[in-house]
This record gives sequence, structure tokens and C-alpha cells, in this order.
Amino acid sequence: MSGWQTVGVIGAGTMGNGIAQVFAQAGSTVKLIDLNADALARATKTIDKSVNKLAEKGKIDASDVAPILGRISTHDALAAAGDCDLVVEAVFENEEVKARIFAELDAVCAPDAILASNTSSISITRIAASTKRPEKVIGMHFMNPVPIMKLVEVIRGHKTSPETTAIVTGACEALGKTPLEAEDYPGFVANRILMPMINEACFALMEGVATREAIDGIMKLGCAHPMGPLTLADFIGLDICLNILNVLHGELGDPKYRPCPLLARMVAAGDLGRKSGRGFYDYAKG
Ligand code: NAD
Repeated sequence: MSGWQTVGVIGAGTMGNGIAQVFAQAGSTVKLIDLNADALARATKTIDKSVNKLAEKGKIDASDVAPILGRISTHDALAAAGDCDLVVEAVFENEEVKARIFAELDAVCAPDAILASNTSSISITRIAASTKRPEKVIGMHFMNPVPIMKLVEVIRGHKTSPETTAIVTGACEALGKTPLEAEDYPGFVANRILMPMINEACFALMEGVATREAIDGIMKLGCAHPMGPLTLADFIGLDICLNILNVLHGELGDPKYRPCPLLARMVAAGDLGRKSGRGFYDYAKG
């Protein structure tokens, strides 16, 4: 058991469906909420496939598949989160949308419910300020793909209480994840360190220091990274990388975070990485 009876997950996209799956695997009843019916249908299919794959690989018992899937229900209104002990928000990376959702959750959820955001780069303190319970608002930054990646970066907003932090780190451990805590500063830890490295790889490519294959190969073979930085940027999405670099640059004000012009040019041209079929590499042939 995760220790949570009922968990709400807002947003049924890439991250939301993974978060719903891991809580259901840990025994929670999960309410997966999205405004978009197609997103909910896609998420249901993705979770079904992912859980069945775990059973095929012997990572979970085949007899657990149906109960896990049975614990997840889908909903199209935030009001469904009203009886949840914990709500994890994973909608688009847009501060206005997140602030609106947190204000609404604050109104519909019980006063002791914890409200978490999976944001990659938006201030937890600012999100919390849209509620009357900032001590119960926290960042739970799961990594993609959620069922596989062990880390949850737990981000304490300015007013997040030690009790909320302790409860959430305990919940992450019950999911089989490793929670590591960070303070609420731009990019937290993972992106503050990862994005400048990806940006530097873009500068190296733009300046002709090496080919894309050599840049990736040097970091893989020389620094024992499982994936080169340009391949990783394609996987994450170049628009997401650019957006996070803009947050680091804008909020920390240090020119060392200025986005590489090549990265900005590729995003403007629609070369966003794997999801668009082309980024630093060509994925058109699958
Ligand atoms: P996504 O675009 O795949 O999914 C977002 C979902 O939110 C969509 O299905 C959309 O319909 C839904 N949505 C939008 N507004 C809504 C609303 N008002 N109410 C309910 N649902 C709404 O996004 P994603 O990649 O899963 O990212 C979600 C969050 O997780 C973002 O904050 C992102 O920064 C963060 N994150 C993403 C990754 C990643 O690798 N994709 C990794 C870590 C954190």
C-alpha cells in the first residue's frame, strides 16, 4: 500500500498516466482527471499496455493486472478530486493554468488534503500562493518514464510544512521511488544542472567543435552518460528544453543560462525532437 487511500491525478498526458499507474500499483484508488476525453482514452490504453508488459516480464504477478487497472477511474471534472487525500497535478507547463487548477482544488478538496505539482520549472511557492493552504502544497517532480525512473525530486515551497514534506517523501518511498529534497529555486536541481549541459552541447554543435555523433559519443563513452546530451534533448523535446532555459535565464538573471541560438532556431522551425520526427537526429523512419 502507498499509504494513500485515494489519489487524484490531474492531467492524463505523458506524466499523468505514469503517475496514476505507479499509485495504482502501490494499492491506491486513483482518479485520473483530464478535460480532454481523447487524452483519458489514450492514457487508459497506455496504462493497460504498460501494466501488462510488467506482468509479461515477471515484474508483477499476472493476477495483479486486473486489480491494478480496476483501481484507476477516469473523470472529466476537477470536482472528482473532492475525496482525495493527495492530488498530483500534471497538466501543461503553464503557470496560469496551474494556478487556476490549484485554486479550484483548494476549494473542492478536504482541508487536510495535500496538493502536489509535477512541474519541471514553475515556482512551487507561486503555485501555492493561489491556495489558502500553502503549507500543504509541494512539488513532486517525477521523471519520465514514471514507472521506470526511480527519482522523485521533492520541492519545498517557501511555506511547505515539514509535516507535508515528511508525508510526501514517505509516499514516494511506498511507491518504490527514491525521494530527494530540493528548495524552490528555478529549475530545482535536475533541470538546473541538466539543461546547461544540453545547452552547452548545442553551442558545441553550433560552433562546429564536433559532430552531433561525436558530442554524444564523447559524453557517453567519456563520462559514462547512458545517452548523449543531443539525443537526450531530442527525447525530452527541444521546446521543453528551450522553455526551461528561458526560466533559468529569466529568473536567475545569469547570462550563463542564455539559450543557444541554434536551439531557439530549431524550435522556431518546428524541429522539436522525437515527437516531431526531427531534432538533432532524424526519426522519420521510426
Ligand atoms: P502532456 O502535454 O503530455 O499532458 C498534459 C495533459 O494535461 C493533457 O492531457 C491535457 O489535456 C491536460 N490538461 C490541460 N489542462 C487541463 C485542465 N485544466 N484540467 C485537466 N487536464 C488538463 O504533458 P506532460 O509531458 O505529461 O507534462 C505534464 C507536467 O509534467 C508539466 O508540468 C511538465 O513540465 C511536467 N514534467 C514533464 C516531463 C516530461 O518528460 N514530459 C518530465 C517531468 C515533469
